[in-house]
Amino acid sequence: MQMWLKPELAKSIIEHARQTQPNECCGVIIGEGIRAEKIVTIPNVAADPKHRYHMDDKALLETIIQSQRQNLEVIGLYHSHPRTEPIPSQEDIRLATYPDMAYVIASLRGGEARLSAWSIKRDRVAPIELIVSVEKPAQEAVSLSNIQKRAIITSAIIAFIFLLVLSLSLLPPAPIIPIR
Ligand SMILES: [Zn+2]
Repeated sequence: MQMWLKPELAKSIIEHARQTQPNECCGVIIGEGIRAEKIVTIPNVAADPKHRYHMDDKALLETIIQSQRQNLEVIGLYHSHPRTEPIPSQEDIRLATYPDMAYVIASLRGGEARLSAWSIKRDRVAPIELIVSVEKPAQEAVSLSNIQKRAIITSAIIAFIFLLVLSLSLLPPAPIIPIR
């Protein structure tokens, strides 16, 4: 799995984390497929926001509805770890309720901002490749060129059939064999 973030979006998440510390911040990532389009900040309503995050349910629901109206989807959820590594905590894993979403974590540990993304399905945690670039990631280009390859093969087959039909039509007529 992959997620593609433009640098300004990655910066916005880190900026949100910095502004919210020492508390954890949280928000959603909206986009299409692997492409992130924008982020929406969500209030952290956890009782202990220094060590936990709990997205305000109403704000989260409204954001999901809004993104659907714009023909986009919520592709990820993010939160920050002001003092720890960008690795899902036991609590993060236990409370992860969206198996199809990327869980992005912004770590500010040691003053160094780092981002990571994870897929959390029940208690199975797997890293998601987070691509921060202006350009579309190469992986997408590969799948595009696969489509192009298929188009080239298809047109080659059509051209071959056309040539076959053409050459058959150009053949001299079959000799007429007299029948006695
Ligand atoms: Zn966490």
